Parts: sequence; C-alpha cells; structure tokens
Amino acid sequence: MKTIEDVQKLFPSEDGNAGDRHAFVQMLAALVENMDSLKSPDQATLKGDNSRPGNFYRNLTGTSVVPQKPGSVNDLIGSLTKLMEGHPYHSRYFLTNVLPMASIPGIIGQFTASLLNGNNLWDVYGPAGAEAETKVIAMMSRIAGYDPLSSWGYTTWGGQGAVFTGLRLAIAKHSPKAIEEGVPGNLYVFSSEQAHYSLLKSAEATGIGRNRVIKIKTKHDHSMDEADLETKMEEVIANGGIPVYIVATTGTTDNFGIDNIETIKSAADKVMQRFSLPSPHIHADSALGGFYAFFNDYDFSENPLNVENDTADGLQQIASRMKHLHLADSLCFDFQKLGQTPYVTSLFLVKNKQDLSLIDLDAAESPYVGDRGYGDYHTSYTLECSRMASSISILAALELFGKEGYQVLLANYVKVNLRFRKALTDSFPAISVTNPNNPGPVTAFRLYSPEHNWEKELAGCMTKEEITATNLRNEALFEYFGLHRSHIFLGDTKKFDLVPCRDSVDLIPVYVTKLFTISPYTKTEHIPAIIDFIAQAAEATINKKFEVTVPC
Ligand SMILES: *Cc1c(COP(=O)(O)O)cnc(C)c1O
Repeated sequence: MKTIEDVQKLFPSEDGNAGDRHAFVQMLAALVENMDSLKSPDQATLKGDNSRPGNFYRNLTGTSVVPQKPGSVNDLIGSLTKLMEGHPYHSRYFLTNVLPMASIPGIIGQFTASLLNGNNLWDVYGPAGAEAETKVIAMMSRIAGYDPLSSWGYTTWGGQGAVFTGLRLAIAKHSPKAIEEGVPGNLYVFSSEQAHYSLLKSAEATGIGRNRVIKIKTKHDHSMDEADLETKMEEVIANGGIPVYIVATTGTTDNFGIDNIETIKSAADKVMQRFSLPSPHIHADSALGGFYAFFNDYDFSENPLNVENDTADGLQQIASRMKHLHLADSLCFDFQKLGQTPYVTSLFLVKNKQDLSLIDLDAAESPYVGDRGYGDYHTSYTLECSRMASSISILAALELFGKEGYQVLLANYVKVNLRFRKALTDSFPAISVTNPNNPGPVTAFRLYSPEHNWEKELAGCMTKEEITATNLRNEALFEYFGLHRSHIFLGDTKKFDLVPCRDSVDLIPVYVTKLFTISPYTKTEHIPAIIDFIAQAAEATINKKFEVTVPC
C-alpha cells in the first residue's frame, strides 16, 4: 500500500461502481456468515473459548502495537471473527440484565448513519440525522403523552446522559445565572433508594456534590414513598436548602418498581407551595420502563393481540403508572434497552422546549457551525459537540416494529416472567420472588433456609446473622450460575434492597438472582429448562454450610 490509490481502496467508492460495492458487501457477508457459524440456540454465548486468565489484559498491554504494514482484508475478517468467539449472545437462555439484541432495523439504521457519517450537530452537516431526530422526538412525545408541538429533545449518551441533562435544566430553571456563575451551594436533588446511580455521577459532574443527593425510601412495590419524600424535602428546606430536582424512576433496573409521578408531583408541589418556592424539575427516569407506554392506549377490553389474562393484568398495572409520564418535565427512552437498537441510542425528551434554551450557547459562541447564518438545526444545548445520528437507527426500528411489534415483544417479556415466577415458587418452596408485586421483564429471587422467606425478611423477623447467611447461600448460587453462564446466563445483584433485622438497627443489603427477559427468542416453553438449571445449582450448593460469625 504505497500510493494514495491503494489507500482509497479502504473507503467506499466515490462513484458508486459495482465492483467496489461488491467487494464491500462480500466483506460484510463474510463477517455475518462467520458469526452465524458460531451461533447455537442452546448457548447464551457464541461458540469458542473466551476464557480470560488473570494476566490476560496485562499481556495485551504488553504486546499491542500499531502494525507498520497494512493488513489484508482476510486477516481482518479473521481477527474480527476471533473477537466474536465466546461472546455473550442473546439467544433464548440469555437472561441477564438489560443487554438486548440489536434488531435488524436497528442495525440497518445505524449502518445507514455510518454510511452517511453526517454530524448531527447541525443540519448543514447532517440533514438525515436532523430529520430523523425531529421525527423520533415527535413520535415518542406522542407515546409519552407530551404535546409534540411544545416538546423537544435529542439523542444522547444513555439514560445516564438524560439524568444528567435533566439536572442541568433543573439548575438552570432554578438559577438562570448558574450557567455563568456556577452552581449555588444550597441545591438538593432527590431520588428513591432504588434509583439508578446515574444521579450520583450527575450530582458530582454538575458540581452539586454527591452529598446533596437525598435518597427516599421505597415501598413494598419498590416505588418511591411519597410521605418520605415530603419529610425529607421539608428537612432540606428547614436547613436552608432548596430542592430543585426529583428523579422518578419508572421501571427500576433490579426489580421494575415504578414510581408514581402523579403522587410524587403533588407531594412535591405541596411542600414547595408551603414555602413559596417554585416546583422542582421532575425527570422521569423511564430509560428502561418507558417503552411500556406503548400500552397506554391499548384497548384491553377489545384485546386485539389476544394477550392472555394474567399478562393483560400485568400490562394494565404497568400502564396505570406509565400514563403519568407526561407529568414529568423531562424523560428518556433508552432505545438500546427495550427499543431493540444498538448502543448507544438514547432519546432524551423535554416537555417544554423553552427549557433547553436555558442551557443553550449564544450563537456567537459557536462560530464554526455557520454562526447560525445558515442551516435551521443547531444543537448547542447538548453536552456533546459532534453527535452521531443515532436517531436514524431509532427511526428505522420504530418504522419496522410499529407500535404493534413492540407490544407483542413487551407482552411476551411480561408473560414469560409471570409464568416463570409461578413455576419457580411451585418447584422450590425455599425460593421467594422478591419483586412479586411488579410485573415486568425482570424477576428477582432469593433462596432461603426452610424456615425463612422474603416476607419474613422484609418484615424484619430475621437476625443479622440469618440474613448474612442467606446472602452467602445466594452468593454460592451466583458462583454456580457464573460458572455455567455459557449455557444459561442469569444476572445477580448484591444490593437488591436494604432490609431491617431483628437484633440490630442496621439495614442489611440482600443478594438476589435476576432473570431478565431481554431476548426475543425466550418463550414460555423454555421455562422448564431454566427451572432444571436452578435445581442443579440449588443441589450443588445445598450441603454447604453458611454459618457466619457476626462480631458483637
Ligand atoms: C440503564 C439505566 C440507566 C442508565 O442508562 P445508560 O443508557 O446505561 O446510560 C439509567 N436509569 C435507568 C432506570 C436505567 O435502567
């Protein structure tokens, strides 16, 4: 590769000639074919070894250098295929967390964005992205119940980015001077104990500080306790602080608790009015659960999709919370979660588009985007400068799935979970489902010794020692599941909830296993194999002793 013409071969053609196109498509075909050869429906990973001995990353660091000579296409396909080997893959037994498979429309959309490689910063550089983004903002505003003529938004870096910009707006609304002068020292933000840690990072990065994140207790359905919110807001105000931001999680990551935005808003407004303060900005962290708003206008009496009774009840229960999404000042749809598109395709929406002007840059401060002399679409309120047009992927998915496609998929997740819960508790008296009140795509469960269960534990009837021993018992399960995850891939968490105990004032974190339906290929007929797998794990750990010594 000595000449510029040689290097040109590494790019898509300039003139659209058939020969170059063919070579390009062949490369893609080879890659897809290689990946297909690694697939097996009974495995939650692609074939091949992906063990990582202790010095794996260290060895890579020691040996990786940019090659002097260009490589060959065949070698490249080979090395990319090698990366695929042993990779987690979203087959029927892929049941861990919210790690979805990217759908074909999602991939094609992302591919289109890459082919064009426009910059979504400005419509002169990225007209396709600007158009697709405008469309998906309006489409999803309608789903959330926002007025698309007043709302606005943009695609951003994850549910985390949405929580972050919600906070930027909250600060700017409370103190418009903050963007010039910095954040006042008395602002406070609130979320439930079950909220995603995004808010902690946002509090740090905006300069508010993590100590000003106030955690609100949750109720038995893992949703925010409004009475505790009122109390804690009052405490903050009594001490000279000002509540500016509340994150209401609509679909928590571990247990699908759904905060009630309506009651949270009225509780918060009540407190603020009493002190003659303006309402705080409410961000619905609907990154995960917001997609269930696709059922907000589903006619459950007509039931056009023939959803079974138990599933319909679950969906109705979820929709009864999702219908309040429009009361939030901002919200998020993480399309790379239940929206079935590749990473990273998150959509942040604001109810009132004027809010974004509070954090916008002055035209004079962004001169190289034409100083806004031409082009109609500038996104200088985003924290990113250059932006990928991930809206094209979102648009492609929305067009090809339609509301109905999403409804079928999301209903199947609920159905599999409800049936799994039943099979699980029927088969194992010692296992409790720890989110029994939350229908949704996730089931959390915990193995007890015969005399205990989740209800007793939640009520504070167990000792610290018993809870700790139960944690160890479940950790042993995690170990078993972890060793065998190439077959069935479950998730776990060591802080599902904090429970009281009988013999101490401490709140103790509880360890649970999670089954997250995220693969379109998981159906109710796969439940027996999953139950067998859990039985093997329980069997393998049953004779272990889980005694602990608790220092007194
Ligand atoms: C996943 C998730 C986030 C973080 O989203 P990213 O896209 O990973 O940045 C925030 N909140 C909730 C409720 C989530 O489920």
